[in-house]
Amino acid sequence: MTTPILTSTPSPAEMDTGGIGGQPRGLTNLFLTELWERFGYYGMRALLVLFMVAPALRGGLEFNTKAAGLIYGTYTMSVYMLSIPGGFIADNFLGARAAVFWGGIIIACGYFTLAIHSMTAFYTGLVLVACGTGLLKPNISCMVGSLYSREDPRRDAGFSIFYMGINIGAFLAPLLTGWLAQSDAFKEMLRGWGFDPVRSWHWGFGAAGVGMVIGLVVFLIMKHRLAHVGHAPAADVPRPWGRLLGVLAGAGVLFALVRLSDTNPAFSWISYGYVILPILAILWFGTRNDPTLKRMAAIFVFALAAIIFWAIFEQAGSTIQLFGDQLTRTEIFGFKFPSAWFQSVNSIWVITLSPVFAWIWVRLGDRQPSSPMKFTIGLFFLTLSFMVMVPAAKLTADGKVSPLWIVGVFFLQTVGELCLSPVGLSTMTKLAPGNLVGLVMGVWFLAAALGNKLAGVLAGEFTATDAPALAAFFQQQVIWVGVATVALLAIVPWVRKLMGGVR
Ligand code: GLN
Repeated sequence: MTTPILTSTPSPAEMDTGGIGGQPRGLTNLFLTELWERFGYYGMRALLVLFMVAPALRGGLEFNTKAAGLIYGTYTMSVYMLSIPGGFIADNFLGARAAVFWGGIIIACGYFTLAIHSMTAFYTGLVLVACGTGLLKPNISCMVGSLYSREDPRRDAGFSIFYMGINIGAFLAPLLTGWLAQSDAFKEMLRGWGFDPVRSWHWGFGAAGVGMVIGLVVFLIMKHRLAHVGHAPAADVPRPWGRLLGVLAGAGVLFALVRLSDTNPAFSWISYGYVILPILAILWFGTRNDPTLKRMAAIFVFALAAIIFWAIFEQAGSTIQLFGDQLTRTEIFGFKFPSAWFQSVNSIWVITLSPVFAWIWVRLGDRQPSSPMKFTIGLFFLTLSFMVMVPAAKLTADGKVSPLWIVGVFFLQTVGELCLSPVGLSTMTKLAPGNLVGLVMGVWFLAAALGNKLAGVLAGEFTATDAPALAAFFQQQVIWVGVATVALLAIVPWVRKLMGGVR
């Protein structure tokens, strides 16, 4: 896929203003398709661990918590890690549009496979969803990027709108799949229809599949809006089958190494590589004379910042959820709620704050902070969020704390997320050499994969029984991200130089 080149007169892309909020018309398609894809992803993810640990009598797989955690971590990491081959396949074989379509088909097949109650179906379903998401997720994000010229001021706002779609899906899905899988009301309905109510989990997984199918239907109905982007390389361009094998083998080796560091304490040092390798890549690329290679250095700076960001942020489902479940009053204004609802707070904040951010970016136009500066602000707010957890943790010595602590933490994290995550998507598509957009997007999601992994490692240190130790746990992480924030701030001018005119 090619990225439009810099122009001073409005390009056809800049004159396309018929979509949401004056954005290109294709954004509406990508917004809705990704909303439904994420509906499936988060709807299924909300059930996954619960289903694995549920007793067989209640229709679950009866895994112990450790095994379930391991499968969960490996699955979420693989989903993002497979973006590397997914991006490569789109760049060199299918084109982004076809990759999104086939990815969606594979994902839907995965969820419908999970709707069958058997161990084989369970693992096959997870593998299908991970492979399909690897094809779909990086390439749909690439296509958002290719709706704009590099300098189009609507670009970051467009990614903010796209990101809001992600979170509308992420917010709604657990409400529905959770109701299908867990509520007595739906079990009663199943009984009435002559189905086994114990199998309600699989109706939840099936609903995720229906979500993906709706996404595919929207994608097809609105496909004319994307006719100008996401093409496959010309038929006479030779297809790099050898390199594809190399990329697949590379992803396989990476996967095996991460798993090794996970399961064998003698190899836990491998995880230092997550930070050291990007630093080496930054130094190597950053000292070349070629502007394209310098941009690659900037890409790795962003990827490294993203690993650190996700390593803290992705503890939402583990550390923060455990804190919410065990150390927080799950009650507000006299209304008791299930602790799992904390999982929707981040999405609610994204939905509320995205329009504010879209407005700020458009309003600031050319005066908005550069992307490395936005990343720094993102890390800064993340630091603040865990700083808030320090007194919260201390207070748990006197009993359960108010849920407002978590609401506040998610507010700060979401401000950080909106400065980093949609901006990162946008910046990657700007910095990538034209024929490598998909692959570079893969690097971005690889950062998410490794961040998810590190978040799991960090969350392992959580304790609910020792308030001072818990406060120290958060404080330690504040120091780490704080140092990373200052380091990034210090190199902002250099990164801007590396980016060579891209903001
Ligand atoms: N929550 C966002 C999504 O699902 C970002 C996830 C990530 O990149 N780690 O797309």
